[in-house]
Amino acid sequence: MSFFTPIGFEDYVKSHLKVNPLVDPADLRRRLRRSLADFRAGVKCQCGQPIWVVGSAEVGNGCFNCITGEAYSSADYELEEACSGAGKAAAKGRVRRHRRSR
Ligand SMILES: [Zn+2]
Repeated sequence: MSFFTPIGFEDYVKSHLKVNPLVDPADLRRRLRRSLADFRAGVKCQCGQPIWVVGSAEVGNGCFNCITGEAYSSADYELEEACSGAGKAAAKGRVRRHRRSR
């Protein structure tokens, strides 16, 4: 999933609303939280890939390729909570195996 650009929850909401001013922010947050919860619960796309949270919030659970139909991947956002190794896990200090060269 390294082609995603990690973005914070509220940052994504802000940028999404800038492009889609008619979207209800409360509704957007609700949809994002539901997709993120599904992602964390291990929900997979029908093809077996992990779901793409920000896309799934729009059109229902699916991975990036199935939602967009193609693997064009210039700068697509994903919540940092859903990007492996980033976000909450690091904040909680649960990241082990930090290789240090002595
Ligand atoms: Zn898929």
